[in-house]
Amino acid sequence: MRPLLLALALLSSAAHAGPNPAAEAQALELAKKAIAIRSVNVPGGRTADVAKLFQDALVAGGFAASDIEIVPVDNTAYMIARWPGSDPKLKPLVISGHIDVVEAKPSDWQRDPFTPVVENGYLFGRGASDMKSDAALAVATLIDLKRTGYKPKRTIILEFSGDEETTMKTSSIIAERLKDAELVLNVDGGGGRFSADNKPQYMTWQGAEKTYADFELTVTNPGGHSSAPSPENAIAQLSAALARIGAYRFKPELNDITRDSFVKAAGFERDAKTAAAMRAFAKNPADAQAIAVLQANPSYVGQIGTTCVPTMVNGGHALNALPQKATANINCRIFPGHSPASILAELEKVAAEPAVKFADVTEGSVPNDASPLRPDLVKAVENALGKAWPGVPVFASQSSGASDSMWFRYHKVPSYGVSPLFSKDNDSFAHGLNERVQLVNFAPAIVYYRSLFTELSK
Ligand SMILES: [Zn+2]
Repeated sequence: MRPLLLALALLSSAAHAGPNPAAEAQALELAKKAIAIRSVNVPGGRTADVAKLFQDALVAGGFAASDIEIVPVDNTAYMIARWPGSDPKLKPLVISGHIDVVEAKPSDWQRDPFTPVVENGYLFGRGASDMKSDAALAVATLIDLKRTGYKPKRTIILEFSGDEETTMKTSSIIAERLKDAELVLNVDGGGGRFSADNKPQYMTWQGAEKTYADFELTVTNPGGHSSAPSPENAIAQLSAALARIGAYRFKPELNDITRDSFVKAAGFERDAKTAAAMRAFAKNPADAQAIAVLQANPSYVGQIGTTCVPTMVNGGHALNALPQKATANINCRIFPGHSPASILAELEKVAAEPAVKFADVTEGSVPNDASPLRPDLVKAVENALGKAWPGVPVFASQSSGASDSMWFRYHKVPSYGVSPLFSKDNDSFAHGLNERVQLVNFAPAIVYYRSLFTELSK
């Protein structure tokens, strides 16, 4: 780093030093140590060591060793830590995250992915944004709360899954074990947006996500010589069905989360036509003009309803033979509130081709509905952000991807993605190369988590 940049970095970190210096320092230290541990869900992966790192920190911070479990599962492990509340009648508050990361090839990166690097105001490394910084911040906040004498009335459970990025086996085990929770704060969802000149614009919390599904379509024919075609051809039959499905649009719809999101996010949409469509759709989800604009926009098409697209196709076995078999995969992102079975049935009708057999071949996903817009949660998030980033708007969002919240929502436990980490549009490198997080996030994140965790457990 050049001297001028170093001076600027020191200046900016001093300017943002917050009111909890011990917790901030510990969070950064834990995040760096966690990044250095290659917690990929593969043979030899070290997820259990990240759990051990956090366990040791919690025990050193005054948590009872007997209240923290690390459970090995296949190549990974998960952690559940309890902070018993004074009122055992209250259902626990769960703070949820994951300690595994997506694989990273060092040869593709500018810096080694498993060596944490602090540079130009950023922390670089695999997991820096997804989600070892948030995990470290949550751990450091709980330790800081304990150190400063906080006593929760409601039991707080901190849990980290160990294969969120792959099979989600530990995610499903944890949700099953904790299905009596009052609500779940998932620190691996939500988040804020910085403008290009690093001003906080807004934060969203995630209250719903779409259900992932894969449907396999199969046509089988007797086959035969291609010089003597039969009236029915497996590839032609499948193709006809795929063309109809490809052209089909599910009925656009809204829920409380997406309505709130469209109305408030419209204020930050740069394109006036798109912003107008967002507002119009929030008022009337049957507005054809608004639907056309949003459906043509990759950022919003997934927000206004179920989408299903053909993603793979396979058929035939020789250039000169009638196909005996043709298959295709339809990948669906189902709007909350619909079962995969009902969407499959709708697609069967659209295909209108009795020879095509449909099968649900989804793996690692369960149907889940939107969590309610709970006033206590909304207020707690607004209060917390108001202390961390005064004046910055916050509203709900629905995600098109899947997180551990899905497993809790499946058990009807309300779950909310509430990470307060802000990033610029061009800083989003989760899962990709040169993953990073801005250090300016750490001080306000501790303020935010302290407020959020106490307000929902006091
Ligand atoms: Zn994640």
